[in-house]
Amino acid sequence: MILVSMCLVGIDCNYKGQSKPNKRVIELIRRGKAIPVCPEQLGGLPTPRSGARILSGNGEDVLNGKTKVITDAGEDVTENYLKGAEYTLKLCREYGITSVILKQGSPSCGKGKTQGGKTERFLTEGNGVTVALLKRNGISVYSEEDLENDEIWEKLINE
Ligand code: SF4
Repeated sequence: MILVSMCLVGIDCNYKGQSKPNKRVIELIRRGKAIPVCPEQLGGLPTPRSGARILSGNGEDVLNGKTKVITDAGEDVTENYLKGAEYTLKLCREYGITSVILKQGSPSCGKGKTQGGKTERFLTEGNGVTVALLKRNGISVYSEEDLENDEIWEKLINE
């Protein structure tokens, strides 16, 4: 079983109340090989919600207590992001999941690209909070961009 970002399945769970459906992720769901989760909703945030960014650094720094996650409105939502990451890891453990496919560029789900910025939000290098926690615990993280690689796709569809 693979865990996937819920917005990639076509469910309107992102901060704008929209989704980013991905054909290959939907195919995994159709074949019964994946379950969808939204770490930000699991962390107790509403939909739609204010956009958020990691104030400085990346998801690893949030886990280490060195920085915070702040909304565009200036609200500190670090605890929500940590809680969502922990619930997502718990799901992986309960279902024996070792691979996940998460939405690129998100402050939770971004792998290698996330939302950062001291005064305003922009795409920056680094992992989101959930990605950082999953990687720290030995889970293989892929983005929807990685699925364009047929070798990776074949590996995941046959897991
Ligand atoms: S990127 Fe992750 S946290 Fe954001 S809406 Fe999609 S599943 Fe939820």
